[in-house]
Amino acid sequence: SRKWRVKPTVLDLGDGVTIGGNSLAICAGPCSIESEAQMEKVMDHLVANGVRLMRGGVFKPRSSPYAFRGLGLEGLRDFHRMARARGLKIVTEVMQVSQVEEMHDFVDVFQVGARNTQNFNLLDALGGVDKPVLLKRGISGSIEELLSSAEYVFSGGNEKLILCERGIRTFETASRNTLDLNAVPILKAKSHLPVIVDPSHGIGIREYVPTMALAGVIAGADGIVYETHETPETAASDGAQTLDFDESARLIRNLRRVYQLR
Ligand code: PEP
Ligand code: MN
Repeated sequence: SRKWRVKPTVLDLGDGVTIGGNSLAICAGPCSIESEAQMEKVMDHLVANGVRLMRGGVFKPRSSPYAFRGLGLEGLRDFHRMARARGLKIVTEVMQVSQVEEMHDFVDVFQVGARNTQNFNLLDALGGVDKPVLLKRGISGSIEELLSSAEYVFSGGNEKLILCERGIRTFETASRNTLDLNAVPILKAKSHLPVIVDPSHGIGIREYVPTMALAGVIAGADGIVYETHETPETAASDGAQTLDFDESARLIRNLRRVYQLR
């Protein structure tokens, strides 16, 4: 809470990569890690555009059990090796308590997905680690519930937290979720933690993702996390909300421009 700590939290991931404070964090990558060839292309794209944070799931929470559920720990090891060789930091989802320890050495930021925001055992376990946690807002979670979930990790001893607005479920069916940009200034006022926006899951429609990403920056976000892939139409998951590299490069340029105007 801001009542407890006025100064904004800045997370230092090492090698000059920070989240929060006076810079805009840009994190991009595929929804799912699919192969070394796929990662190489994404990594080349990120490095060429000066992006240091790469997202990508190896444990995927899928609505259907028959959908691609990720490459698991083996994929994470490859992800880590390739990212390290290129100076990239890894943001990836942890789905259950038993994964925390086995993933630990291969992860720079543990992502808690929207389906696990109130998995209190997982939050307790992450309270005991020395790495940042990117905590997504629950699919039907209130702002207060997000902050309470953050409190679980915080009170466990891990103060390295990032809050993420990724859209909530509403009556609206024209978009996948309803990106609640109201949450950004409200979270920034209530909490000293960095706040980032995920426009990909927030709206779920590729052509509108850049606009909502830029709106997130104007709303006061400390960073943006979005999905990109060389060929979104063949992506193993979330292709419909995934930018190709041209769209991604344009967005990166515009994010930096808009951030300067703030
Ligand atoms: C993701 O980041 O790919 C993801 C599954 O996100 P969320 O938990 O917000 O649905
Ligand atoms: Mn996704």
